[in-house]
Amino acid sequence: MLDVPGRTSSAVGALDRLFGAMAAEDLMATACRDLFPGRIALVSSFGADSIALLHMASRVAPDLPVLFLETGKHFAQTLAYRERIVAKLGLTNVIDLAPSAEGLAAEDPDGTLHARDADACCSLRKVRPLYDALKGYDAWFTGRRRDQTFSRSRMAVFEADGERTKINPLAGWTQDDVDLYIWRHELERHPLVEAGYGSIGCEPCTSRPVAGGDARSGRWQGLSKTECGIHLPGTPNGATPAS
Ligand code: SF4
Repeated sequence: MLDVPGRTSSAVGALDRLFGAMAAEDLMATACRDLFPGRIALVSSFGADSIALLHMASRVAPDLPVLFLETGKHFAQTLAYRERIVAKLGLTNVIDLAPSAEGLAAEDPDGTLHARDADACCSLRKVRPLYDALKGYDAWFTGRRRDQTFSRSRMAVFEADGERTKINPLAGWTQDDVDLYIWRHELERHPLVEAGYGSIGCEPCTSRPVAGGDARSGRWQGLSKTECGIHLPGTPNGATPAS
């Protein structure tokens, strides 16, 4: 195990300089084995491109905790896909994170909060369950890439995330890189990709991308919202999410 410096942004910058250029799978192995052994998780939506990182995890650490936000609003196809992929890849530590029963009763008793206040719904069903769960870890992997949206275009591989370190092994990958990886390893894609979905989240808030838009343009269509809130500044450490 390496002596990982504190989690200030300058320390995270040092990690980025030392390890940020590693190949994605090597980086995952290094982070799991040397940087944050037993203290790191992968957060996965089992969405359109998730299979690439899940496959790497299965090769370097099949017992890596994989945190899945079970919002209660997923497509049936996503839940079925998740079951198949976990079994196929031999992932042994997939953990569902659900919103609290008390929160649902108080804030979304009829399940329609997403239509009235999407930010509040994401806070209830995604942000708060995730950040409660992350209290048990020092670092987490995400599948975010710079080519996905303008707001992600300058993202580092290692990011400071409150008390934790966020690692984006695919930050420099393009959609072509992901497609090639999936093809090379003969991996099963989310079935809705075939149906034209470029980014897949909760069913009420996911559509096919707009003409000329990026892959995530089908998320929260008609709203200015582009992120669920788990990657926005201000969300770590239980602070109020910015969206
Ligand atoms: S994506 Fe939509 S349904 Fe899912 S948590 Fe956010 S607002 Fe709610």
